[in-house]
Amino acid sequence: MKLFEIRGGVHPKDHKELSANKAIQTVPMPLELSLPMHQHIGIAAKPMVQVGELVAKGQLIGMCATKCLEGAASNHGITAPVHAPTSGLITNIAMRRSPHPSGLPEMMVTLQPDGADSWGSLPSALDPLNSSVSELVERIHQSGIVGMGGAMFPTAAKLEARKYSDLHSLIINGAECEPYLTADDRLMREEAQKIVDGIFILQHILNVPNVIIAIEDRRVQAADAMRTAIVSQKGMSVVLVPTRYPMGSEKHLIKALTGEEVPSGSLPGALGLIVNNVGTAYAVHEAVRLGQPLVSRIVTVSGGAIKNPGNYHVLLGTKVSHLVETCGGFSQPLEQMMIGGPMMGLPFSDLEVPITKGTNGILALTKSEVKPGTHRPCIRCGACIPACPSGLEPQDLFVLVRNEKIEPALDAGLADCILCGACSYVCPSHIPLVQFFNYGKGQALEMRNEVVRAERLKRLSDERSVRVEEKARQKKAKQEARKKAIAARKKAQEQEGAQAGEVKA
Ligand code: SF4
Ligand code: SF4
Repeated sequence: MKLFEIRGGVHPKDHKELSANKAIQTVPMPLELSLPMHQHIGIAAKPMVQVGELVAKGQLIGMCATKCLEGAASNHGITAPVHAPTSGLITNIAMRRSPHPSGLPEMMVTLQPDGADSWGSLPSALDPLNSSVSELVERIHQSGIVGMGGAMFPTAAKLEARKYSDLHSLIINGAECEPYLTADDRLMREEAQKIVDGIFILQHILNVPNVIIAIEDRRVQAADAMRTAIVSQKGMSVVLVPTRYPMGSEKHLIKALTGEEVPSGSLPGALGLIVNNVGTAYAVHEAVRLGQPLVSRIVTVSGGAIKNPGNYHVLLGTKVSHLVETCGGFSQPLEQMMIGGPMMGLPFSDLEVPITKGTNGILALTKSEVKPGTHRPCIRCGACIPACPSGLEPQDLFVLVRNEKIEPALDAGLADCILCGACSYVCPSHIPLVQFFNYGKGQALEMRNEVVRAERLKRLSDERSVRVEEKARQKKAKQEARKKAIAARKKAQEQEGAQAGEVKA
């Protein structure tokens, strides 16, 4: 298959040798699980359990929206339910520190495992070819599946694209381009058949003739395993893409595979495409074939400071401290912890934060693996421009955002920045450009929310004025009708009086 050039990109040292050749291991049962009700993009789930309640593994503990209660097969909105990762006792439901550098509190359910790890009653297995598409999408939604590549977009909502786009191809993203991360690589090497079955279910739902499974060309064993697994599948092919960061970004993968660019502000559906991660396909297999909701995931734990880097099968809600302990703790002085990869991941310091549906990696980095914290002024070297895969001019964007000129930054393409960090990586002045752009995007969102809020207030005010005017008009009409009725009655009485006078006379 012909591949197309993508703009920009960098070749950071990938450090994947630390964990790539280690088989997935299961993490021992933790003493406590912390389950955020917001493990996806969209509206947070609401706790459906009480403190003191015993729950079974797979039991629904966070409900997303009223539609779930109704079992509606579509239109769930952007949200996903949360399930108990093991059996045990609910010990707390409260606002607690979120697994995010902001540290903002969010609703969290605490579960104390009972050690039995026993499943509750699960929905029955579905045969995809003898189930309706809406039944399959409903199962995916009810199983709480979200984009496992880190995007955390609810999968059932993504599949809605089949209704309004003329889809022709499904792209399966196995291009794990972030340094250190090998969770998808190992999953493909160890569970290729199950992933391919999940892909088959997605292909059936979307009714697309073509499936492209994109894998970085250095991940030879994963590609071989997937090629073997697709032998009897129709329309599926494995395509090796160049190992270059950020090849795994949805837009750049599409560009490399099709030569087409997703228009600014649009989704891949605009090109007849939909992209899902290999981990998502695996979760779809488990939900449809086994009736099991999403309660665990594969996480790469790596970095120079961790004693035993590797890939681990982790229950959602497991605290990072437990994971680090399972890996033998730290063997080198720790400089920085990261959730995700070093390019797009987020630094954090509280080891009590939990693993969530979108956590593909936990990194414990040494000083030599982290860029210096102090940066120097921009020397206008221009190195960041060819590195940018979105064709932006990061040094100019940086000046605009630093000076809080968000509107001009948006005009200069801030919205198209995918926060990949390629510009920060090449910057000789060590300017944390991506952090500025992240901040700028946050400000832009605030501004848009302000505009939406102002528009909503104006609409409410206009609607109220219309209602007040209508009421006044109705009141006036009533008064006039009453006046007319009185006048008519008076006239009738006068006529009656006149007639009576005539009769007397
Ligand atoms: S972070 Fe944004 S500006 Fe920097 S290289 Fe990536 S897309 Fe371009
Ligand atoms: S790479 Fe850094 S120093 Fe060079 S132009 Fe870009 S922001 Fe400035």
